[in-house]
Amino acid sequence: MKFTNLTRANEIGANSYLLEFDGEGRIILDAGLHPRREGEDATPNFGPIGNHAADAVVVSHAHHDHIGSLPLFVRRKQKMPVYLSEATYLLAEPLLHNSVEVMLKQRASLGITSYPLFTHKEVDRAAKSYRICRAGHECSIHGESAPKGEPLSFRLYPGGHILGAVGVRFRHRDRQILYTGDVSFQEQTLMPPADFPLDGIDTLIIEATRGGKETPENQRRPMEIERLISSIQATFRRGGAVLIPVFALGKTQELLATLYLEQKAGRLPRCPITIGGLSRSFTQIYDRLASRSFRRHPGLSLLGDVAPTVLDGRTVRQLSPKPGEIYLVSSGMMTERTLSNILAQRFLPEERHSILVVGYCDPNSPAGQLLQTSRGNLVALDSESPPRPLLCEVDQFDLTSHAIREDLLAYIFRLNPRLCVLVHGDPPALAWFQERLREERPGIEVVVPPPGEALEL
Ligand SMILES: [Zn+2]
Repeated sequence: MKFTNLTRANEIGANSYLLEFDGEGRIILDAGLHPRREGEDATPNFGPIGNHAADAVVVSHAHHDHIGSLPLFVRRKQKMPVYLSEATYLLAEPLLHNSVEVMLKQRASLGITSYPLFTHKEVDRAAKSYRICRAGHECSIHGESAPKGEPLSFRLYPGGHILGAVGVRFRHRDRQILYTGDVSFQEQTLMPPADFPLDGIDTLIIEATRGGKETPENQRRPMEIERLISSIQATFRRGGAVLIPVFALGKTQELLATLYLEQKAGRLPRCPITIGGLSRSFTQIYDRLASRSFRRHPGLSLLGDVAPTVLDGRTVRQLSPKPGEIYLVSSGMMTERTLSNILAQRFLPEERHSILVVGYCDPNSPAGQLLQTSRGNLVALDSESPPRPLLCEVDQFDLTSHAIREDLLAYIFRLNPRLCVLVHGDPPALAWFQERLREERPGIEVVVPPPGEALEL
């Protein structure tokens, strides 16, 4: 089997990989767009695919860095099937259409002439190639059920992380290869932990996102939720409002469910919660699949029971934060011109308010900059307004939807594959796994695939 890393660097970027099974199948695994780069630089490197188009694409989940360039792959070969879970199928549509809108705005404001990289029409055309695979079914690149004697087949396994996230296990002749996608082995409020194979895997392609970060026992999710709830209560007591910048897909729905259950248990007062328009579209799909997918609390309707208010790009301009309210709006890193960035400007000057960050932030992002600023000092959240003094409270909570490194390592040990391919991690994260595995499991061959190079595995 040949494995080619189609990302442009060893980092968490535009996730995409090419698997070639000795003339019996060429599969693209994920089709992401880089979250921080612009223009064509944000796409995967199509060069190594060459003129022979792939036979199929398999998508692990609907986050932008795994699915954001899908229409570009479909453009290269019409009628190429794209295999995904039902939830990813539904989530892909609002995500990719929103992506076109964002690119059109960036073209106008930043003058990026290559934007949009694809059109609304191409998003609709790509959807015609989608083929839903049910978890637990052996699929082939020619259709949902693998014909007998087919040398290559694959099966999707629930990966935790977000709704519809899967790991993909390929079976090629007598070999089994598992790609984890983004995975969580811990239970979240809505997502159960991953349900992955525990043996028989020869080659493991595993995400390494949190390799650079230790998670001590006292910073695990339940303790972090307790700390978050105390912080919200303290803000309300001093007459303030709470801004929680979140990703529209995954984190918004997890937080809606968490806050609702905390209110129901009497640990948090009932209060108005506001979300953004795109988050609403994703939340609708979480509700629609509540009892049909790998999701906890099937009886909980997020839009019905939590009943959040919906904010859009126009209403946000007039909004002033009200005491005792929670604003759960994207983007998670408070990127310029997003709801969370615009709202944050109104939180900064008031001591009674809080901005509570619940996910990973790139240190160079506005939220990353905010976290590095001490109270009373100046901070610039966008390039158009002057720096302002930070007077509100700012705190960070670790509510990750990625596996903590302790769990990833335990899974590698349990599986004990012959070969372990490390992807989706920054250099320090990759180095931590290389080091640990070299010391504790010298029998496992560890590979960090250099971008653009076909590796014979
Ligand atoms: Zn993800």
